[in-house]
Amino acid sequence: MEQQLTQIKEDALTAIKAAGDLNELNEQRVKYLGKKGSLTAILRGMGKVSPEDRPRIGQLVNDVRSELEASLENRQSALKADELSTRLATEKIDVTLPGRRHEIGHLHPLTLTLNKLKGIFRNMGYSIAEGPQIETDYFNFEALNLPKDHPARDMQDSFYITEDILMRTQTSPVQARTMQAHEPNSPIRIIAPGRVFRRDDYDATHSPMFTQVEGLCIDKNISFSDLKGTLTTAMRQLFSDDLDLRFRPSFFPFTEPSAEVDITCVMCHGKGCRVCKGTGWLEILGSGMVHPHVLEMSGYDPHKVSGFAFGLGVERIAMLSYGIEDLRLFFDNDARFLKQF
Ligand SMILES: [Zn+2]
Repeated sequence: MEQQLTQIKEDALTAIKAAGDLNELNEQRVKYLGKKGSLTAILRGMGKVSPEDRPRIGQLVNDVRSELEASLENRQSALKADELSTRLATEKIDVTLPGRRHEIGHLHPLTLTLNKLKGIFRNMGYSIAEGPQIETDYFNFEALNLPKDHPARDMQDSFYITEDILMRTQTSPVQARTMQAHEPNSPIRIIAPGRVFRRDDYDATHSPMFTQVEGLCIDKNISFSDLKGTLTTAMRQLFSDDLDLRFRPSFFPFTEPSAEVDITCVMCHGKGCRVCKGTGWLEILGSGMVHPHVLEMSGYDPHKVSGFAFGLGVERIAMLSYGIEDLRLFFDNDARFLKQF
């Protein structure tokens, strides 16, 4: 029995020293001191030992047990220290690695187009005016010579919030707001960019929400030739110097006379192509001389001052500038599309 104990002790101490990591060490602990361990087996066999030997053997087993426990403890501390220094050596942060670059992104093609338009008109002395997207019926229609039940309202059926409040169908209400904020008859040169809303389909060329830029110029002796000169300059700066403009009589309730403006097709330079449907011209904006009623409604005197106004769609300009064929691409927020600009 004593010999057996000495053997177990020596084997155990050797095995503990040889344990290469904490797992191995634990295996040794179970092997010798666990429920089915060899030292435990000896304790269980104590009943077979003669009563006079029992205390001595018992003491011996306890001594071996204490010695093994101390040895396990030591080996465990040593292994833990090793493990820590290994981790410190392998997991240290390499501060010389280049950092991860943040993607900064860039402006949306509609914003780029809008910025270009703003720049062109700023250079001609215009300032930027903005107004609310949720507008009153008065500013959206009535102040623009579109009284209730006017048939032209049907072309701009929109999203009503109440009977008298709607999502604006055009940026023109900013014109009336600007006039009413000025001293009557004082000169105005503004462009009003912003989103507008109309009940419409959503396809390659239609959207119930789009971006408009309207312009308003009021002063003494403003004539149709000022309108032509301003728009010709703006469109040539926007697309190309050799561009021609064509003014076609049209109707808008808030201008008189009114004109649709075409430009030489920017795709085929007037030769005729698919985009201009073979005509060589592209319809680009609406314009006209401010209707005397509109001036009066906002406190201006049509006998003392006159003015012109125009409006264009930013999506259409961007589509022509960048050769984009589907309007919906602007609103899909597909990074593959947006990254191209
Ligand atoms: Zn063309």
